[in-house]
Amino acid sequence: MKKALLIIDYTNDFIADNGSLTCGKPAQALEDYLIELANKFYDNGDYVIFPTDGHTGDTFSPEYKLFPPHNIVGTPGQELHGKLKDWYEAHKSSDRVYKFNKNRYSSFQNTNLDNYLRERKINDLWLTGVCTDICVLHTAMTAYNLNYDLTIPSKGVTTFTEHGQEWALDHFKNALGAKVIE
Ligand code: ZN
Repeated sequence: MKKALLIIDYTNDFIADNGSLTCGKPAQALEDYLIELANKFYDNGDYVIFPTDGHTGDTFSPEYKLFPPHNIVGTPGQELHGKLKDWYEAHKSSDRVYKFNKNRYSSFQNTNLDNYLRERKINDLWLTGVCTDICVLHTAMTAYNLNYDLTIPSKGVTTFTEHGQEWALDHFKNALGAKVIE
């Protein structure tokens, strides 16, 4: 059975010091581990997927009132950050590497992710990236409802507050049946 590693929202706006909605240093600290995981999945014949926030700045988005403008399609803020950008550029021609825009927290909402995974008989998802208690959480909730098996490496996700991190990791394990690993 094939597996997929999802690296969620690892973009300049969420990760870089000057990003418009940045998780800052804790998010920058994930970089080497995410590269290690991406290589492991890729070298094993598995999939590496980049669900990436892509907004237009329109006032109808529910996020418009909650957050500053971020991940506007086509801006540097929406590009993958640092080594992950280099990794993606080096592997993007592979048919096991897939990057797509999403316009809601859940990577499944308004996207073809479920269809993409089912076509390839992928049932085992590893979720990483940011933010643990927002986009990773909502992606995990949809995946749970769609009967995917979930693994969440705790050192592969982060968010704005320690409380949010702890709460979400507990929720993955206790309410969504995910394997939360070190
Ligand atoms: Zn967003």
